[in-house]
Amino acid sequence: MERSFKSWKREVIRCIRCGACQNVCPVFSELQAESTVARGRVKLIRGVIDQELDLTEGFINKMSLCLMCKACVVNCPSGVNVDKLVEAARKEIVERKGLSPLKKLIFRLVLKNRWVFNTGMRTGQIFQGLIFRKGPNGLGMLPRMSLGIDKRRLLSPLALKPFKTIYPEVIKVPEPTMRVAFFTGCMINYIYTDTGQAVVNVLKRNGVEVVIPALQNCCGTPVRINGDYETAREMAKANIDVFLKEEVDTVVVACGTCGLSLKEEYTELLEDDPIYAEKAKKLGAKIKDFTELVVSLEGFENKMGHLPIKVTYHDPCHLVRGLKIKEQPRQIIRGIPGVSFEEMNKPDTCCGSGGSFSLYHYELSTKINDNKVQTISQTGAEVLATGCSACRMHIEDGLNRQGIGVQVMHTAQLLEMAYEAKELCGKAPLK
Ligand code: SF4
Ligand code: SF4
Repeated sequence: MERSFKSWKREVIRCIRCGACQNVCPVFSELQAESTVARGRVKLIRGVIDQELDLTEGFINKMSLCLMCKACVVNCPSGVNVDKLVEAARKEIVERKGLSPLKKLIFRLVLKNRWVFNTGMRTGQIFQGLIFRKGPNGLGMLPRMSLGIDKRRLLSPLALKPFKTIYPEVIKVPEPTMRVAFFTGCMINYIYTDTGQAVVNVLKRNGVEVVIPALQNCCGTPVRINGDYETAREMAKANIDVFLKEEVDTVVVACGTCGLSLKEEYTELLEDDPIYAEKAKKLGAKIKDFTELVVSLEGFENKMGHLPIKVTYHDPCHLVRGLKIKEQPRQIIRGIPGVSFEEMNKPDTCCGSGGSFSLYHYELSTKINDNKVQTISQTGAEVLATGCSACRMHIEDGLNRQGIGVQVMHTAQLLEMAYEAKELCGKAPLK
């Protein structure tokens, strides 16, 4: 049976109002308003459950002002799952008030339908030069007009060809040590194809055969966290069917948000489904982050050449607090000969992206991002490695705004560079 909004009362009453969440919430730290910290959101949600408050515009706005970063969750002495409560509130809003026409169009027509999404992205790739102009130093692109996106926002262009069209569905290697499927996610498929290529190249060099199922689609996170559970469930089921058909024990993911969605959130989303509840668990058990998989591969470090660069690392919220991946990327980076690794202050603080949060609340998200960019800059690093494409784009935007020349890349790209350096006998310049 579908979980009712009222049933979240059990979670709400666990809040002891201690205020510990005030010290860690990036939104509260900027706005200093009780209604924007976990404790305040919990109180508002309790008010709606107890029918003392209505779903007013103010309430809807407060629920949208959450990055879903889980900083409050891991620091809460009572373990209140604030992000789950906010998500339940957003679902209740959609059920009682409906979706806006724009969200309906994006979620139900575009993101859910692989063919429409793909066609839209390919058309967008052709016409992006009309809507966007080149960013500073030819990097990224800036909107020519508002279009609901702030004109100062630096975006990465859509890649010439989607990642899935670059490779065959099965990338064979001689005498494979293992076979994995790769869930690419939208940003790697359409924007950061360099990350996808690095994932494939690193795995190939370690004798891993990679399958890239052509019918996979968006993981559905943007749809689910905006409260459209009906569409999110359909998207989850479609991906589950696609990946369970593959004869693999591991599905590798190179994005913390997609990984968390496939590993845990599909199971929660489908827990009452008589057919898919078990299937979701089965898929969840196969999910591994790229860095988690790499450090388990025997001799992965023996292929690294010398990279004389200073590197720092940003922990994406869903990777570090969701999937608990913290040491693996550091083990890879520290293991590269010549790399000087400099830990930044509070590397797991949210970069302010929050997926669509940075589109709806750009001004606020840039303030949060400015702090992150400053801590990156203080390390003196030339390269920032991370494990999430949305963080990469948002941090690149912040670095551009502040005129700081740090190259941002996925940990897979850094490792690929180290492998190339060995093959080129230590003559590897930065890409
Ligand atoms: S830290 Fe947890 S228990 Fe304390 S006020 Fe925040 S949500 Fe409530
Ligand atoms: S999830 Fe993050 S943004 Fe939302 S209330 Fe918790 S700490 Fe604040």
